[in-house]
Amino acid sequence: MSADLSPPLAALLELTHRCPLQCPYCSNPLELERAKGELSTAEWLRVMDEMADLGILQVHFSGGEPAVRRDLADLVAHAHKIGLYSNLITSGVTLDQPRIAQLKEAGLDHVQLSIQDVDHQTAAFIANYPGVQGKKLAFARMVKEAGLPLTINAVLNRHNITRVERMIDLAVALGAGRVEMAHAQYYGWAIKNRAALMPTLPQVHEATRHVEAARERLRGQIVIDYVLPDYYARQPKACMGGWGRQFLNITPSGEVLPCHAAQTIPGMMFDSVRHKPLAEIWTSSPAFERFRGTDWMPDLCRTCDQKEVDWGGCRCQALAVVGDAAATDPACALSPKHAVLRALADDAASQPAPDFVYRRMTPQDKKTALAATTS
Ligand code: SF4
Ligand code: SF4
Repeated sequence: MSADLSPPLAALLELTHRCPLQCPYCSNPLELERAKGELSTAEWLRVMDEMADLGILQVHFSGGEPAVRRDLADLVAHAHKIGLYSNLITSGVTLDQPRIAQLKEAGLDHVQLSIQDVDHQTAAFIANYPGVQGKKLAFARMVKEAGLPLTINAVLNRHNITRVERMIDLAVALGAGRVEMAHAQYYGWAIKNRAALMPTLPQVHEATRHVEAARERLRGQIVIDYVLPDYYARQPKACMGGWGRQFLNITPSGEVLPCHAAQTIPGMMFDSVRHKPLAEIWTSSPAFERFRGTDWMPDLCRTCDQKEVDWGGCRCQALAVVGDAAATDPACALSPKHAVLRALADDAASQPAPDFVYRRMTPQDKKTALAATTS
């Protein structure tokens, strides 16, 4: 490892792309991987050993829905045995009390539960899963009864944004120690559904006011994380803490990615843990080297005093909006394409919301039987 390259802090393991829900903002790729290509239990155990050897401290078990893997408790137990802090990122609809107890027994450290809304009908509409909210509430109670720390997260969009305060209050009522309210990030399924998800700027301002008021009101009770929407921003976020700086993502079949949307960038080749050691992939894979550091940056960024603050923002967003993954992120007000990004947002938000294209194995437009309550 070169002297100025640190080991990653955390790895997100997409154990599977299988999921009973169909959220239209899912960060999984449009071409979902099938069960037969997934890494085996033995392969995941070896990958975790390589993670620990590399110096990684945290493992996030994600998906899809990681709990559809019957070996989840075995993977958690191994993470615990080798000293990795483990976080389960789940939709909460497939786990019952015995399996939660089994995960706790295996040494699971933390649970992160996603919700779609507080309103049951809209939650079902967003997830395309009738009765989803009742299952999530029951799951959250079982997690707390098992004595596990809980984080609640929600993806804000035009259908739920007016209830941001109620979602935070729900997280408090469920005993969560942290709640994350994150505006949708537009790549993967979310960019396909951009017009169906995009809120207006006044709605974003209103949500931000509610979050700030809740932070005051609930100080000392719950930590509130808030992720602003890039399309209405003036400076980009340090996507993934900078490309290839702090995090890596491993897909169900073992490809190692600098971020979960990196496969949208044409011409990139990703190494697999099936064929190369993880340490070698982290230090010298061409995909990690491509946008690591600042040398790859366009002049506008390379000469900017923010270049080691935001690391140039999001490559996938630059590709999606500018058509060039190496361009300045259009979320930056200095980008010549910044106005294009803002116009896309204003245009999408000013129209009636179209039907969702739900996340599914075979992408196919589908009208929902459930009516949206707000738009
Ligand atoms: S975002 Fe929704 S569809 Fe995607 S993995 Fe999570 S719960 Fe499943
Ligand atoms: S010019 Fe580049 S480095 Fe500077 S703020 Fe904009 S995106 Fe960040």
